[in-house]
Amino acid sequence: MIAYFNGDFLEKDEITISPDDRGFLFADGLYEVIRSYRGKLFRAQDHIERLNYGAGRLCLETRDFSYLEQVAQDLLKKNELKGDATVYFQITRGTAPRGHAFPDPPPAPTVFCTAALLDPTQTMDSRENGIQVITVADTRWAGCDIKTTALTANVLANQEAVEKGAKEALFVRDGVVMEGTHSNFFAVADGCLVTAPASNYILHGITRKVVLELADAKGVKVNQAPVFTSGLPRITEAFITGTTTEITPVISIDGIPVGTGTPGPVTRTIQDGFLDLIMDKDAPFIENTK
Ligand code: PMP
Repeated sequence: MIAYFNGDFLEKDEITISPDDRGFLFADGLYEVIRSYRGKLFRAQDHIERLNYGAGRLCLETRDFSYLEQVAQDLLKKNELKGDATVYFQITRGTAPRGHAFPDPPPAPTVFCTAALLDPTQTMDSRENGIQVITVADTRWAGCDIKTTALTANVLANQEAVEKGAKEALFVRDGVVMEGTHSNFFAVADGCLVTAPASNYILHGITRKVVLELADAKGVKVNQAPVFTSGLPRITEAFITGTTTEITPVISIDGIPVGTGTPGPVTRTIQDGFLDLIMDKDAPFIENTK
């Protein structure tokens, strides 16, 4: 597999990263993932914009990563990924002797990107039939709008979900469902789509943005407002969203069925709209060759 590392396209196995890299020492970095459908990047510019936002917030030496869209396209080509794939970007402050404060002089950020085949059939059951989720206390910091590689709270929460036979954990802060460990959360109450407002306590998901656009186009009412755990018994539908998650129905929360316990009509409307968006109907479907 060909990967990108600090300006070069190399065999992934040939790439080595220093133990003094601040990503390794401090999780002092960012990541991003772009999805490709039929060889075409989906919402690439939104993802790059978020990466640039994070680079600004972390005061990285480089704050404009627009060139990575071309890198992503090159990676798809070099790896012959003509079908569905993901492109991951891992960026750190760079390599320098240990010390909490920014190294002086600032090192060049470490930039590592990979592209890999994604088999959509593996998540088909979840998207069709829905998933069970649990709630956990949101112990994360107040910079959740930055897509940092510091994911310890997310890792532990998702593991707890898995151990309880669920697929995702929803973070609850002060009685409000904020988002999942790797997804945004939407509920349907009184026919209206409700999701946490974009703040520093959630990642401003690109799929969340797409869903809000779709709801608008389809005449589904939206309320960007807190979803209180106390109100969960009254919601009729729920789903989570994400670049790899897409639109996945939630059929139970902490073992309690959501609505009828099956994916509901608003969820299906949004899923259908999303499918229309990602399918370029003019393009013939090409299977991945690798
Ligand atoms: N929230 C968190 C914590 C996430 O990790 C993700 C996935 N990256 C999302 C939300 C969904 O964001 P997006 O739709 O941009 O993938």
